[in-house]
Amino acid sequence: MPEPGYTDRLLLLADHWRLRPWPAAAGAAAADLGAVLLPTSCVVCGCADHSLCVPCRALLRRSTARPYYAHEAAEALPGALPVLAAGRYAGGLAQVLLAYKNHGHTDLAPVLRPVLAGVLHRAAEDAGARGLVLVPVPGTARALRRRGYSPLDLLLGALRARRLLPAQTTLAPLVVHSRPGRGAAGPGTRGAVVVPRPGGQKSLGKRGRRANVYGTMTAGAPGSLAGIRCLVVDDVLTTGATIAEATRALRAAGAQVQAAAVIAATPGPARDAANTNG
Ligand SMILES: [Zn+2]
Repeated sequence: MPEPGYTDRLLLLADHWRLRPWPAAAGAAAADLGAVLLPTSCVVCGCADHSLCVPCRALLRRSTARPYYAHEAAEALPGALPVLAAGRYAGGLAQVLLAYKNHGHTDLAPVLRPVLAGVLHRAAEDAGARGLVLVPVPGTARALRRRGYSPLDLLLGALRARRLLPAQTTLAPLVVHSRPGRGAAGPGTRGAVVVPRPGGQKSLGKRGRRANVYGTMTAGAPGSLAGIRCLVVDDVLTTGATIAEATRALRAAGAQVQAAAVIAATPGPARDAANTNG
C-alpha cells in the first residue's frame, strides 16, 4: 500500500477524531445544572444579573477585540514559537476564566466561545490556515475528575459543532498524556521520575514547572506526524511550560508546530497566581 498523502492523512486524523467521544453531552448537562445551582450574579462586578452582566460583557468584548503576540513574557516557551492571545489575564477576562474553569460556571462558555474563535481565526490566518491542525493541550485526568468537564474541550467542541472553527483547519487531539503521574527525564531531572505535586504547577518555580511537565506528553512515534502543520491551543498562557511540552511532543512525532493560540496571557510576575491548570 502506498504511503498515504498529506490530505489522506488529514482525513484519517479527522476520522480518528470523530470516533473519540466529546464531553459535549456531559458539558451541556453541567451547564444546565450550573444555571440551576449557581446564584445569578455577575462574576465580575457582583451585580444581580446573569453570570456576566451586560456592561461587563461589553468590557470583555472590548478587552479581547485585538489579539496580540504574548510569547515574550513566557520564559518556558521554546524560542521562536509565536503565541497569540485574545487578551490579558487580568480584570474581567481573568474573573470570567476563573469562574468558568474552577467554579463550575459552564454557563459562561457562550461568552468565551467567540473570544476563542476570534483568536483562532487570527492565528490561523497568520500561520496559513490551509491544512492546519488545531491541537488542544490535553488536560490532566485529575483535573477532569475534579471539574467533571474539560474547559478547553468544551469550548472547542462547541465551536466545531457550530462550524465556527477557521476554514480549512482540522481539530484533533494529537497530544495526550503519555503516562499519567510519570514523566521522562528532562532538563534538571536527568534519569528521574517526575511526580506531579499535589499543589499543581502553581506551587513550583519556573524551572520546577518546566521540569515537572517535561516528557509527560506524547503525540505518537517519531515521524508519525511528518508533514502535519499544527497550531497548539490552550486557555491560559502562564510560563508556557504546558504549551512547550505539547510542542515538544508534536515535534518529536515529526509535526511542524507553527504557533500557539490562547484565550488569555498573564502579564509579568502575577502569572504564577493565574495558572489553574494543575
Ligand atoms: Zn458585571
